[in-house]
Amino acid sequence: MTGGAKGIGAAIVRTCAAEGAIPVIVDRDAEAGKQLRTELRGNKARSDLLIIDLLTAEGCLSAVEQAVKAFGRLDVLINNAGVNDKVGLERGNPNDFVTSLNRNLVHYYSMAHYALPHLKQSRGAIVNIGSKTAVTGQGDTSGYASSKGGVMALTREWAVELLPHHIRVNTVIPAEVMTPLYRQWLDTFPDPKEKLNNILAKIPLEKRMTTAEEIAAAVVFLASPKSGHTTGQHIFVDGGYVHLDRALT
Ligand code: NAP
Repeated sequence: MTGGAKGIGAAIVRTCAAEGAIPVIVDRDAEAGKQLRTELRGNKARSDLLIIDLLTAEGCLSAVEQAVKAFGRLDVLINNAGVNDKVGLERGNPNDFVTSLNRNLVHYYSMAHYALPHLKQSRGAIVNIGSKTAVTGQGDTSGYASSKGGVMALTREWAVELLPHHIRVNTVIPAEVMTPLYRQWLDTFPDPKEKLNNILAKIPLEKRMTTAEEIAAAVVFLASPKSGHTTGQHIFVDGGYVHLDRALT
């Protein structure tokens, strides 16, 4: 579970643990990771915490190796870590763009690559976290938007490649979820409160943000045998934000 210490990832970790899975949190935020671990222990849930930066292939390999060493198997890979880093077409340069791909896309591939032998054994699943920016655009965030587009493409590509191994691959696509990352992004606007109210008014279902727990519920479904015949799908958990008629808002 990459990026499992905070935000959406932490909600996924909690939901997996509540369902009896053993989440392995892979994150670079040691403080947040330790806090979450303490909480899980308090709930008598087993878990592990690996403080790793996913920006290198060695880090990704080590995450997979340590998880398998600790528990002897790997059933599900959840690729979630990422950052909307605002590398735009004008405000940015080709080096920044490559850095953004490294932050948001390359480790999804590396984790899947290194996890594959173990997922073959377990006939497991991959769940990726995408972003609506891949299909709507956002402006000023070429690296992030194209990475998330890549995640959607890789979901289909891997679903096909892994058919013979009975490994299912799906993506959950959030739009607006209040997390530390989202708060950071919101605070870059001159009037964050006004910006947030404008966004909320445009969310068709209940004019509210999606909760991290609602994203987690979809992820757990896609990770479990309950979704045994679901593969290659892009599931938008966004209160209708991306697809419903604009006239509604
Ligand atoms: P978040 O609050 O920042 O949590 C992500 C966690 O992942 C953080 O602890 C972060 O550590 C860690 N992380 C990021 N890059 C890492 C790396 N290279 N190595 C190790 N750890 C890393 O983010 P979030 O809002 O929950 O977002 C989770 C996912 O949902 C992302 O893929 C994001 O693109 C996607 N998403 C979110 C929203 C939303 O509304 N929140 C909408 C669409 C898509 P640091 O704090 O040190 O970076």
